[in-house]
Amino acid sequence: EVRVRFAPSPTGALHIGGVRTALYNYLFARKMGGKFLLRIEDTDQARFVPRAEAYIQESLAWLGISPDESPWNPGEDGPYRQSERKDSYMKYALDLVEAGHAYYAFDTSEELDAMRERLTAARVVQPQYNSITRTQMNNSLTLSEDEVKARLASGDPYVIRVKIPLKEDVRLNDMIRGWVMVHSSTLDDKVLMKSDGMPTYHLANIVDDHLMNITHVIRGEEWLPSAPLHVLLYKFFGWEETMPQFAHLPLLLKPDGNGKLSKRDGDKLGFPVFPLNWENKEDGETAAGFREAGYLPDAFLNFLAFLGWNPGDEREIFSMSELIEAFSMERIGKSGTKFDIAKAKWFNEQYLKSKSNGELAHYVIADAANEEITILQDTAEALVGLMKERVTFPAEIWQGSRFVVIAPTEFDQDIASKRWNSDAVTVLSAYAELLEGFTGEYDAETAKAMLNETAEAKDIKLGKVMQAVRLAVTGNGVGPDMMEIFAILGAEEAAKRIRFALA
Ligand code: GLU
Repeated sequence: EVRVRFAPSPTGALHIGGVRTALYNYLFARKMGGKFLLRIEDTDQARFVPRAEAYIQESLAWLGISPDESPWNPGEDGPYRQSERKDSYMKYALDLVEAGHAYYAFDTSEELDAMRERLTAARVVQPQYNSITRTQMNNSLTLSEDEVKARLASGDPYVIRVKIPLKEDVRLNDMIRGWVMVHSSTLDDKVLMKSDGMPTYHLANIVDDHLMNITHVIRGEEWLPSAPLHVLLYKFFGWEETMPQFAHLPLLLKPDGNGKLSKRDGDKLGFPVFPLNWENKEDGETAAGFREAGYLPDAFLNFLAFLGWNPGDEREIFSMSELIEAFSMERIGKSGTKFDIAKAKWFNEQYLKSKSNGELAHYVIADAANEEITILQDTAEALVGLMKERVTFPAEIWQGSRFVVIAPTEFDQDIASKRWNSDAVTVLSAYAELLEGFTGEYDAETAKAMLNETAEAKDIKLGKVMQAVRLAVTGNGVGPDMMEIFAILGAEEAAKRIRFALA
């Protein structure tokens, strides 16, 4: 059975790249009929941000990416927060020490700094604690057995480091990138257990993936450099048989393609790069979210799916279940994907158009309520119908149609000076009179037919006065379909507005 996991660290707001990783894991699990787990990797106490976990949960819930097992919905392989598993890791680190694949290191931070300075002075490009330098440091490979015992007994702070072999080709067959080969001499002896008794990401991640029977590790490309170490750890533990397959997702790039997309790009260019608004009370950091900017969850999801994957044909509009159906790892690209906010807007427009008026009415009701204006469902639906083909975000519906509910008292002066003339006054007066005596059904077609009739009777071309008509009724020179507006207002209200404008 396929089992995949999304393993975020709660260090801040979940970046759009993280949401995409979650989505691809979810799609793959559903496609394969497997399970999608969520594990919180919170062993780094220094970087822990309390609200981050709730933010992750809320973001995924907004998009309908629902884990089968998670801290909030545990399965049999829990707990699903590493902090709650913290007592389990030391045993595995000690197993590696026992087997000669890891060792104790007692170096102080001053000693480590001195080592780095020495290497830098000797023009070593990448100063590392590795198979060469470890021989000059204080660790269980250089100290006598008695000395190590004494230090451990006296409570000297120590870490446990992995012992990277001197000469070995480490290979892995990445599902997206193919064969990746790294020589072990380029790797360093990473810390597995920290002096505070907590495991590092590398140890906890491998142990948990193993214990949780993870079959595929799907994660961002920034983790590719760690993968060779992970492969070695699987080997050292003797877990090669069940080692998961790796898939490293392409980077999300800045709109101009120059480098990785960052939070600052969004701030600078004025678009969100996070799913939801974020505010960290402790450090005052804030970020704008797609949800609050007015993106519909299914539109954002559709946009997200295409950031690195495509179905191989021309189709672009996909619901979650259609994505599951169409998804395949083979169609994930190797190269980075440029972030294109215009595409996100386009998706939002398509989804707005495809919704029923009833589905979108609540946005209008809420926006009106913000101005302490109460509107009924029917009115809200009518306003949606008027606007939804013309807008990118739901908030523009009320903005662009509030004049329907609130009769204009001011009129665009620029348009008035150009379009308000005696022909306009003639047609408008006659139309108001016609409407005042009208008792039939006043729909868009009738409104148009009656207005046409009026203009013809006065021998005035309707096209020449149309903008003045709009101005009188809406206060503006542009807007949605005028005849639809008439129909929503009704004959009586339309006549009243025209009279007010004429007065
Ligand atoms: N905790 C890591 C992160 O924050 C997980 C990386 C992985 O999936 O292995 O992205």
